[in-house]
Amino acid sequence: MNHEARARAEAWLEYFNDLGISSFCLDRSVAASANAIEPTSPIPESVARPVRTAPTAGIPDHTQKPAPAAPALPVVKSASLFVANERVEGDTLERIREDIGDCKRCKLCEQRNKIVFGSGSAKADLVFVGEGPGHDEDIQGLPFVGRAGKLLTQMIEAMGLRRDDVYIANVVKCRPPQNRAPEPDEIETCSPFLYRQLSVIRPKAVVCLGAIAFQSLTGTKQPISRLRGQWLEFRGIPLMATYHPAYLLRNPNAKGDVWEDLKKVMAHLGMKVPAKR
Ligand code: URA
Repeated sequence: MNHEARARAEAWLEYFNDLGISSFCLDRSVAASANAIEPTSPIPESVARPVRTAPTAGIPDHTQKPAPAAPALPVVKSASLFVANERVEGDTLERIREDIGDCKRCKLCEQRNKIVFGSGSAKADLVFVGEGPGHDEDIQGLPFVGRAGKLLTQMIEAMGLRRDDVYIANVVKCRPPQNRAPEPDEIETCSPFLYRQLSVIRPKAVVCLGAIAFQSLTGTKQPISRLRGQWLEFRGIPLMATYHPAYLLRNPNAKGDVWEDLKKVMAHLGMKVPAKR
């Protein structure tokens, strides 16, 4: 085994050990084939609990500290995704990209290198939504390709999927300077394009990575530590919030929480969920 392959294998083992699923890791090829998402698999109704409606600009939460279990939230019936204001008849991802064009709608255009539209399958059952591009994403024009992106790839692969099976996008499509959190006006300007992407893809579940994504799509100001791991809703689509991979890089102990959240998503999608070792 050459040096690069060894380093990659070691990173895998460390990651799966952190998750407490090393035996699943060794059996990944089996898990991967068992978990090819069946496009027609039914959504168990019991998992989708409507909680919030219209998205508004998100309020950053940089704390992401574990909090006591949340009291049940009031159930609010959300508008359907397909009567949303941004809905465009016959919309496609290509058309959305064209509409974005060489975007100058907000101040993020001033320092960006590339617009990071999103990548993956237009027919994905599962969409991951992050906050906004970082340095590597800005250079490459692709979401989650830096350090946090590598961790997200591992999380996706731990589920028995490949990046190409899912769709990955961000709340804002241009890098905020110095990786600061996107500001409310930037989120408000950019997020209609994300809503259109979700409307075209119509996934069976959305996983929000971190507070910005979760607060932007649900309109809540609650900290992510309070609502992660619970089924919420975005315009009729079941939505699960979990910690951002960048947070996991700083707090590896939280990987287990994220894995529990992802297992709920796998169960919702009708995928085989690995048993505890
Ligand atoms: N963090 C994000 O939220 N999105 C990316 O695309 C990369 C890092």
